[in-house]
Amino acid sequence: MDRQLDERGSAILQRYREGLGMSVETNARVARCHGEGRLAGVVFEDGKAVEADILVACAGIQPNVEIAREAGLEVGRGVKVDSTMRTSDPDIFAGGDVAELPGSVSDLWAVSVAQGQVAAAAMFGREVAPAQPNTLVSLKLEGIDVKSYGLIEPGTTGQDAIVDPGGDDNEHRLLIVPTAAAQRLHARRARVLQLHEEDTDKVRGDGSD
Ligand SMILES: Cc1cc2nc3c(=O)[nH]c(=O)nc-3n(C[C@H](O)[C@H](O)[C@H](O)COP(=O)(O)OP(=O)(O)OC[C@H]3O[C@@H](n4cnc5c(N)ncnc54)[C@H](O)[C@@H]3O)c2cc1C
Repeated sequence: MDRQLDERGSAILQRYREGLGMSVETNARVARCHGEGRLAGVVFEDGKAVEADILVACAGIQPNVEIAREAGLEVGRGVKVDSTMRTSDPDIFAGGDVAELPGSVSDLWAVSVAQGQVAAAAMFGREVAPAQPNTLVSLKLEGIDVKSYGLIEPGTTGQDAIVDPGGDDNEHRLLIVPTAAAQRLHARRARVLQLHEEDTDKVRGDGSD
């Protein structure tokens, strides 16, 4: 979620979950679990202890690389590929969650699609840079709509955030776009507001005549 929600979005989600009776601990790392025969609780690194019956660990994806390893391909966390999605065998390509680009394994649908396009082009002897994928990440939770579209990870150089506070305290819209696009959107918004003001003044003027 840290790659999908900013502070206000996180606060809304936290409030929602607490409203369901959950207690949410953030910035908390589990130091140890304890119990005899079965789990009784966990202790965080700061010493705080909570009781627990179940521990769910979100450990990320684990690509199924056995078949690639058996075929003699170079394998790390995933099947190692270069920037054209070519594996260590020049006639074999990999893309999506199974592929490992230097330093990273993808875990999003749109990224997988973009990698497939790069691989397909490379198979036909063309080198194309991967398109910046339009990612959509959706948290499937009953009763709350949490969606994150487009570029994520606010703060990245060359991106700007446009915040629309939404209708009420439980609504939050955040758009992160390349800086140039943000400047165009801000300019367009200012122009629309100006036109709206001019229209309002005109109507007021007409009314008083
Ligand atoms: C719970 C969950 C929620 C997600 N939510 C989002 C989201 O909101 N937005 C988003 O963008 N992404 C989301 N993702 C990630 C997204 O689903 C993956 O990035 C995407 O499916 C990757 O596509 P892929 O084709 O690379 O791999 P997969 O979709 O995993 O397809 C790989 C296929 O290969 C098959 N396979 C594996 N090994 C073998 C073998 N040896 N022989 C034959 N077949 C084999 C598997 O059975 C599978 O069908 C989510 C993933 C999960 C698990």
